[in-house]
Amino acid sequence: MMYYSTNGQAPRASLEKAVVRGLAEDRGLYMPERIPVLPPDFYNHIQTLTFQEIACTVADALFGEDVPAEDLHRIVEETLSFDCPVVKVTRSIGALELFHGPTLAFKDVGARFMARLLGHFTRASRDRRTIHVLVATSGDTGSAVANGFLGVQGVQVHVLYPKGGVSPIQECQFTTLGQNVTALEVDGSFDDCQALVKSAFMDTALTERLRLTSANSINVARLLPQSFYYFHGYAQMKRLGLAEQLVVCVPSGNFGNLCAALIAGRMGLPVKRYVAANNANDVFYEYLQTGSYAPRPSIRTLANAMDVGAPSNFDRILDLYGGDWQSLTADISGGVSSDLEIRSTISDCLRKYGYLLDPHGACGFRAVYHRLAPGESALICETAHPAKFKDTVEDAAGVAVPIPERLAAFMRGEKQSVPMGRDYPAFKAYLSTLK
Ligand SMILES: *Cc1c(COP(=O)(O)O)cnc(C)c1O
Repeated sequence: MMYYSTNGQAPRASLEKAVVRGLAEDRGLYMPERIPVLPPDFYNHIQTLTFQEIACTVADALFGEDVPAEDLHRIVEETLSFDCPVVKVTRSIGALELFHGPTLAFKDVGARFMARLLGHFTRASRDRRTIHVLVATSGDTGSAVANGFLGVQGVQVHVLYPKGGVSPIQECQFTTLGQNVTALEVDGSFDDCQALVKSAFMDTALTERLRLTSANSINVARLLPQSFYYFHGYAQMKRLGLAEQLVVCVPSGNFGNLCAALIAGRMGLPVKRYVAANNANDVFYEYLQTGSYAPRPSIRTLANAMDVGAPSNFDRILDLYGGDWQSLTADISGGVSSDLEIRSTISDCLRKYGYLLDPHGACGFRAVYHRLAPGESALICETAHPAKFKDTVEDAAGVAVPIPERLAAFMRGEKQSVPMGRDYPAFKAYLSTLK
């Protein structure tokens, strides 16, 4: 399968090139040239299959031409070697809990898959140089990527994070690992971290010498595996008799996860419609209402993993609809929640249904609650464990939220990080020591 750039000015790329480069030469995003449709038989029996079996079928369809079946199935198996996400049902609304990965982030699946796929390609490649993964994080991405790539041969990970800008739990998840993971504590903001990474990618002298890639959802190897969830979520809703008119609701920031859901739909998954849930960062919602897209700086909210003012996957979603606002809005609607509404939704949902939402899931819940047509059921992605936002959730819900052992374990490790200035020369000096 070949991949094209959404900007249309770059040569088509193989999967290997798309994964190693991240972004195309024209700075567009890679998209698969064809989206394969799975046979009716698969959908007829999907409720009898395990998460692993479902994921292997989807991976075969997406990556089977480029990765030998045996290797691909091993990559899927290693990626998903943890408890699979479950659906908890509340009336006609199911919360698909995506936080069952090792760092309690849904980003674990994409990060682990990408790490193993890169490992596969480096082993098969004649280029023996190390691949350096640069990742700027405001919290969750850094931990998922660092843990996903931990111990993968031929790959070094460099996590840039704002000093004092991430929670202590999040910081432990990428500063205590060692091995092939280095944490850089930047004396600046998240935007400064992202600017440093961008400068490195623009530095042609550097990119000619070092093999650099990024590991956010612009990378197809992180984005496409997220489609596994939707098939698995559908299968569970079908078992519950709730898949007839399924509405899929995705709390969105950079819109990678929604994009993966739309791709699952193009592969034939019977989804009636999609809902993109936002916090107060509502550029996408505004686009749905008006047809004009006006990215702007993000504002801070309680659902901070969705504090994005210029969603990086917007162009991919537009591309799926050939830029046609009419057909896009026929499939996708939106919802926006303020911080006040996030808090009241957490409390209402706990009181009425006994289910404890996190601030991101609360945006999702509110976007579909009382907004379903007769006969419809909704599957909401519950994207974070409530303990990750302990203070907010405890305050809103009025109950104590225990920290799961998996999170607590990270806090016992020893922090190691490299202090870094916010200006490019300092980062360049660090990069110049790498091979
Ligand atoms: C990353 C993240 C999101 C947003 O996902 P996108 O793919 O960027 O839209 C939502 N919730 C949580 C908890 C996240 O970590």
